[in-house]
Amino acid sequence: SDKNIVLNVNGIEVIYNHVILVLKGVSLQVPEQGIVALLGGNGAGKTTTLRAISNLLKGERGEVTKGSIEFRGERIENLSPADLVNRGVVQVMEGRHCFAHLTIEENLMTGSYTRTDKGEIAANLEKVYNYFPRLKTRRTSQAAYTSGGEQQMCAIGRALMSNPNMVLLDEPSMGLAPQIVEEVFNIVKDLNEKEKVTFLIAEQNTNMALKYADYGYIMESGRVVMDGAAEYLRTNEDVKEFYLGVG
Ligand code: ATP
Repeated sequence: SDKNIVLNVNGIEVIYNHVILVLKGVSLQVPEQGIVALLGGNGAGKTTTLRAISNLLKGERGEVTKGSIEFRGERIENLSPADLVNRGVVQVMEGRHCFAHLTIEENLMTGSYTRTDKGEIAANLEKVYNYFPRLKTRRTSQAAYTSGGEQQMCAIGRALMSNPNMVLLDEPSMGLAPQIVEEVFNIVKDLNEKEKVTFLIAEQNTNMALKYADYGYIMESGRVVMDGAAEYLRTNEDVKEFYLGVG
């Protein structure tokens, strides 16, 4: 009921292959222009939560069997991923899904498939290059020959080409050197502040995510076990002990 909430996930249950119960009643909320982190270890259910929101479960033989998902007050569980993109919700999948044989610029252009206005597409491309100067430098390089960081940037840049209102980022730090992770998160922060893009970010890198997020949810075995303001989670003794990379 809070007008400020753009995404409201309410008690969702997700089952894979008709039998494997993976999400056991997950609820979370994302406020307008927020950066919310979805934290937890391997297999906790972060990716499944993002897939449920962006309706990408079908390809994985998964389905939402309970609960509801609302974006700006409207139920979205039955919208196709393309409808969601039109409404401003895009997901950047884990593992930097760039097309290896396309150039960086061709990859970015594939993200504008819902747009037709050439001027608008060109303006979007310039905007992406403005936020990711590395991509501009590498615009004619085949994605396969760019670095992991550049490919992650390309995947985010591609999502931005649809002019999204909310971006679901799955594990942006995966496989990247800490310095590059910082670079990516700094750009996320910039996009959040200047373009008012709302972010929901699934991350195993609790430390890094809480440095940039306003709020966090911690998942374990398909449930949210703790949530709170990033500042609170960063300093919480349990979080420090279990999630802030001891050892
Ligand atoms: P990771 O960081 O490894 O992606 P995660 O927190 O994102 O972890 P999920 O990928 O959502 O976790 O996985 C949650 C659970 O669901 C795991 O036990 C996983 O084995 C299971 N799972 C994920 N995808 C499928 C699938 N397509 N079919 C069956 N089980 C699945």
